[in-house]
Order: sequence, then C-alpha cells, then structure tokens
Amino acid sequence: MSRIVQKYGGTSVGDVERIKNVALRIKAFREEGHELVVVVSARSGVTNELIARAQAVCANPSEREMDQLLAIGEQETIALTAMALHGVGVDAVSYTGAQAGIFTDTVHTKAKIKTINAQPLEKDLKAGRVIIVAGFQGINEDGQITTLGRGGSDLTAIALAAALKADKCEIYTDVDGVYTADPRVVKTARKLDEISYDEMLELASSGSKVMQSRSVEFAAKYGVVFEVRSSFNHNPGTIVKQEVAYMEKVAVRGVAVDKDQAKVVVSNLPDQPGTAAKVFRALADASIIVDMIVQNVGHAGVANLTFTVPLTDTAKAKKSLEPVLAKLGGGQVAVSEGIAKLSVVGVGMKTHSGVAATLFQALADAGVNIEMISTSEIKISVIIDKARADEAARVAHAAFGLG
Ligand code: ASP
Ligand code: MG
Repeated sequence: MSRIVQKYGGTSVGDVERIKNVALRIKAFREEGHELVVVVSARSGVTNELIARAQAVCANPSEREMDQLLAIGEQETIALTAMALHGVGVDAVSYTGAQAGIFTDTVHTKAKIKTINAQPLEKDLKAGRVIIVAGFQGINEDGQITTLGRGGSDLTAIALAAALKADKCEIYTDVDGVYTADPRVVKTARKLDEISYDEMLELASSGSKVMQSRSVEFAAKYGVVFEVRSSFNHNPGTIVKQEVAYMEKVAVRGVAVDKDQAKVVVSNLPDQPGTAAKVFRALADASIIVDMIVQNVGHAGVANLTFTVPLTDTAKAKKSLEPVLAKLGGGQVAVSEGIAKLSVVGVGMKTHSGVAATLFQALADAGVNIEMISTSEIKISVIIDKARADEAARVAHAAFGLG
C-alpha cells in the first residue's frame, strides 16, 4: 500500500462524463489498497469564464473579490468528484483549500503556500476515505480565501505530496507526458521517460507549458518526485526528478518554441553609465518581464539595446519607455511582433561541446536567420522569424537526433 497524491487538470474533469471517468480511475487505485489524496482543478474554461464575468461588472475588480470568485471553480469540481465516487461506492470526502489546512501569505491572486496542517487529512486517510482537495486555493492568516496564481492546482498537489510525505505524486493532464518537442509540430517527437527539474523549468520558460513553473520549483526545493501523465489512457508518463549523472549523457533533451514574445529595439541611446538602469527600471515599474537582453558595442556616443518582452506587454513597454527616452534626451523604440524564441535544453550541455555550433549550422542549412542569441548553463535560445519557427523546431530536433 502506498500513499498517492494525484492531480487531475481542467480537461480531465471538463464535464460530468469526464468526472465520472476520473471517479472510476480513482476507484481502481483505491481497490489496489492505496491511500489517495486527489487534487482537482476547475472544469476547463471555468476560471476564464469567471474572470470574464468579473471584468464585465467592473473594469478593475478587487483582488480579494477575485479570489472569492475564482475559488468557486475548484469548489464545484471537488463536490462533484466526491459525489461521483459515492455513486460508484467509494467512500470519499471533499475539502476546500482552507479545510485542507493550506495556509498562504496574504497576496491575493498569487499567494504563496506557507504551511500545511495535514492533521484533518490524516484522520480521514486513516478512516479509509479518498480525499478530494480543491486545487489553486488556500486561506491566509486573516481567514481570507486566497488563490495561488493561474495553473496553481499543480502547486497544491506538489505541496500536499511534500506535507503528507506521499510515496508518489501523479499529475494527470491531457498529454501523455513531456515530449522532446511539441508533437503537433514535430511529428517525430518522443515522450521522455524522465527529465530533471531544471530541464523541465527551462522548457517551461521556453514556451512548452505542461505545468506551472512555480510548482516545478517547489518540487525541486522539497525533492518531490512526480510523474506527468494522461488521464485519458493508462500509458506511463514522464518522471520529473533531481538530475542524476546519466542524464548528462545526452546533450539536448528537448526543443521548445515560444511564439508569445516580442522584440523591442531601443536605438541611439546615450552610451553612458545609468542608461540601461533607467530603461529597465521603467519596464520593471510597469511589471513587465524582460527575457533576453542584448546591448551592442557603443559607437559615436550612442548604443542600441534589444530585448524581448511578452507579446501582451508590447504596448505597455512602449508607453513606459517614452518618458525615459525624453529624459535621456535621445533614443527611438521599435517593436517587432513577428518573432519567436527557439530553445534547445539539456543538462548534458554542461559536459558536451559543440551544441551551439550544431544548432546554428542546422538553422543556417535551413536558411533561418538568427536575430538574437542567449544561453544558460543548460539552454541555448535564439530569436528567429515567427513564420519559420515550426520548421526551425523540426530541423533542430533532427540535428540533435531527438526523433
Ligand atoms: N483553475 C485554475 C486555472 O485555470 C487553476 C488550475 O487549473 O490549475 O488557472
Ligand atoms: Mg491547469
């Protein structure tokens, strides 16, 4: 008998039929004798619908009220899942985040989990009940309902697995696991048996969204090994865990494309101390997340700064830079939205040479121009023309023999 924490995402519990199907899957695990804590998301689309309704009644809804509202999406699913289990003869009980003892800080809409008091859960587990917990929500020290940021049900599951010292944590979703590339774009993409936390995080930041990044960071911090797998079949998924030596044998584990970035070029800036600080302070004050940054060598007293921002923030970026440029007495902003970021990721890069050369050659052979380059210890990213991004992913995937 093991203690298992499972999480079913929005598509897995998307309608009543799917909820009944999840109940049957849970019943089968229960019949194997396992202790089960099951975290569920809101039905797919529900959270977005609630956000739209909030915006329809108020241009700028208060974050406390947003949390009151958004928490109901998950509350519907826990009750329905528990009822579906009762319907197939399984003893089950639903818990909201607060009832499950998930205590957070006071930051509404993106709260951090501080502690979990697992006492009440332990009691029901002992009594042989399956526990269904609402993902994405908690309670703060003032007794207010908080939510954990979009995709936060993953975090609930990982945090519960840590607090309950679960033997296994399984994240059920609508894909079979983590792939070497997006299988819709790269037909030869393969499912990975395992991947390290760091690789998973780099892939997520590079545009391959299987899970909320904060949850993966949390899992890495607390050493929670988890499996990402599908709720629509019984195939094994991808195990996500600490890096082990043999993982370094492969230079590149996966290829990811992010089409939700824009490139901003600020040209003819005065080449003097403090210019970059002022530019990026203005962006930071506007809460814009900057990814790649390149500054060219100054010439004749002026320099250019190029960086990428989320596509949704381009207008905001332009606007926040205007007063800075006015104060600096120079500089022009140009935005290009037709770009994509292609990344190759792998812990093996630390010990393999020639990864950059192989990638650049593959892109050159395909006639794809590289506009920007950035690297980390385990990732190489390039900015390229968005129209060529899918093709570039295929050639990079082939160049590293990932198919
Ligand atoms: N329902 C929340 C969202 O859509 C949390 C989750 O699904 O993980 O972001
Ligand atoms: Mg989700």
